[in-house]
Amino acid sequence: MALLRVALTGCHLPSTYCRLRLLLPRQMGTTTRQSSDTISRLRESGLLKTQGLIGGKWVDSYDGKTIKVENPATGELLANVPFMGKKETEDAISSAYSTFNSWSKLSASERGKRLRKWYELLLAHKDDLALLITLEQGKPLKEALGEVAYGASFIEFFAEEAKRVYCDIIPTTQNDRRLLVIKQPVGVVGAITPWNFPLGMIARKAGPALACGCTLVVKPSEYTPLTALAAAELALQAGIPPGALNVVLGNASEIGDALLESTQVRKITFTGSTAVGKKLMAGSANTVKKVSLELGGNAPCIVFDDADIDVAVKGTLAAKFRNSGQTCVCANRILVQEGIYDKFAKAFSESVQKLQVGNGLEEGVVQGPLINETAVEKVERLVKDATSKGANIVLGGKRHSLGMTFYEPTVIGNANNEMLVCREEIFGPVASLLRFKTEEEAISIANDTNAGLAAYLFTQSIPRSWRVSEALEYGLVGINEGLISTEVAPFGGVKQSGLGREGSKYGIDEYLEIKYVCFGNI
Ligand code: ADP
Repeated sequence: MALLRVALTGCHLPSTYCRLRLLLPRQMGTTTRQSSDTISRLRESGLLKTQGLIGGKWVDSYDGKTIKVENPATGELLANVPFMGKKETEDAISSAYSTFNSWSKLSASERGKRLRKWYELLLAHKDDLALLITLEQGKPLKEALGEVAYGASFIEFFAEEAKRVYCDIIPTTQNDRRLLVIKQPVGVVGAITPWNFPLGMIARKAGPALACGCTLVVKPSEYTPLTALAAAELALQAGIPPGALNVVLGNASEIGDALLESTQVRKITFTGSTAVGKKLMAGSANTVKKVSLELGGNAPCIVFDDADIDVAVKGTLAAKFRNSGQTCVCANRILVQEGIYDKFAKAFSESVQKLQVGNGLEEGVVQGPLINETAVEKVERLVKDATSKGANIVLGGKRHSLGMTFYEPTVIGNANNEMLVCREEIFGPVASLLRFKTEEEAISIANDTNAGLAAYLFTQSIPRSWRVSEALEYGLVGINEGLISTEVAPFGGVKQSGLGREGSKYGIDEYLEIKYVCFGNI
């Protein structure tokens, strides 16, 4: 989706941008204020980096092309950053490749110490990082601070985990042999990340990769490069050596292709849309790379008759409206059992009505803008489809009076799985309520999707909690809780929501190869 808020300067426009420019001339410049006053609020101006990072050097694109970064809440121009492509990516890969040898040979404890330092620096600059996140992504400042703590926690966790990459000795089948299993870093990692968690998604990948000795080429979203660059600057300050963490910005498919084509890149890790994830998986086949994918979700949130209604309302609200509904684990379908439906719909809508919408820098705002107008148009399309198929608008249902990228927090009643709002990932502040009768029916509706990332259920029955959480075809299940992601637990999906896990002791395995070593004739 994410194309609109970016405008190119001084370069040939790729065809998608040209189409958008023709369709939506307003987003492409005429309303953009050419100022970056808010960015001057950074406490440490050195954290505002507007170049890519290759081999420890801050560099422009080789042909001078740039791309604008804008504030989704105001249209304000925040910065121009390089629009890089194949050549810069190849140099970043070479740099990561040549640094791999020395970085991977440092002791695990030394790598851990530097990661720990990075963690400390991220926290020491949490206000600046949060400001950058709010400015370029739009989420409220308090949520942005939460993201900094969340992202940093992965760096801390994997700083510790570096020392715990244990190997095995396998009981032998022949007395003159000894069988060992050692684990080694996979090598150079290409990490492609989205805009909804500009720091968190990079930290979840760079933490484990660097901890076990891999080096990276990171490609952040074109919408949110500033947070990534600031984090990379802090990594350098922490002693992560030049070349171990490179950042390239710009032409997504060209950068992606360069990563895919390189035989030096041994692993692709990606968070983003299912469509791009599938392309990367297919593109990895030619060089047989290891792949981790964290793709779209379609999270069911099941509220049973026996739920504690306050807990259910609070949990569903958090699961649905965090980041204005723009997370892959956001509750996409809220299934409510018929006995509690009316009571829940009323209490939930009352809570939704209280959500304050606005610029994330303003006090009290809990719902920021959507990332761009395409996102708003998608939400409009889904709501229109739902009402045309019999759903009713309980609350909201239209663009917010603030205009631009703002949409009213919305509750839709009597939705069903035939509606697009229940089939596509909404990625916006729209909660659709579906009515069901039995536990079996709820499970069947919940599993009737190609996605399988997060699911939630609210019940006070322990047997039901077990039954339902085991029956749900999802990688994460929250029981009586709407926010469940943490660095100490594995995050990842099943079905078309992805491959592999991030976070926890399992997360580091994604960056390790297993080698069997046989000592013979001893
Ligand atoms: P979203 O719709 O959430 O923006 P995308 O999957 O389009 O999700 O984007 C996630 C990340 O993938 C971004 O960094 C984006 O630039 C990148 N990306 C998009 N298309 C490609 C591609 N063809 N190859 C590599 N990366 C891509």
